Amino acid sequence: MKIFVFFGPPGAGKGTQAKLLAQRYNFIHLSTGEILRSAIEKQTPLGQKAKEYIDSGELVPDDIIIGLIRNRLQNLEKESGILFDGFPRTLAQADAFDKLLQDMDEKISAVIYLKVPEEVVIERLVKRAQIEGRTDDTPEVVRKRILVYKEKTEPLLNFYKKTGLLYEVNGLGTIDEVNSRIRKIIERFV
Ligand code: ADP
Repeated sequence: MKIFVFFGPPGAGKGTQAKLLAQRYNFIHLSTGEILRSAIEKQTPLGQKAKEYIDSGELVPDDIIIGLIRNRLQNLEKESGILFDGFPRTLAQADAFDKLLQDMDEKISAVIYLKVPEEVVIERLVKRAQIEGRTDDTPEVVRKRILVYKEKTEPLLNFYKKTGLLYEVNGLGTIDEVNSRIRKIIERFV
């Protein structure tokens, strides 16, 4: 199974790109943000637990996220590939992820880091707020999410750099331009 992790700040374009590439290669797209938002909409126990964190721009606690991923992985058929979008987001999640994959005799093929400057990220999120009306896209919560990204998620860059799995992609340009940059990386593995 090919396993790709999409990494980058909120608003980097992970979801957009992961969706397109999952279609193209017939991979599963696993977005923790989407799973959580759908759980909130359906008012499941998971959604009830997650809502407050998401709406304030905090991360949902690691044990909840790790449980969610474990569950998804256990219920998957053998897929040709999975694109992880928004996971792992903390060092504890990355460690737990490695162990889960080890147990399945699988490993990450590549971590694709979509690099976008902070000013651009803010601009994109403000625009998205106007279009999609996500409850966590208000200016105040956006600022919080960027702070949380820097504090808790950015340290993962070094973690994955050391493992040699990190591929940096320029996240500026059109969706197509970024898409073809990422395809060049994925093509090395498929
Ligand atoms: P973005 O990447 O734009 O922040 P996401 O849809 O990936 O958007 O995530 C939205 C929110 O869902 C996050 O701010 C966080 O509260 C929660 N979330 C998503 N993935 C995780 C994760 N792996 N760990 C903790 N919280 C998460």
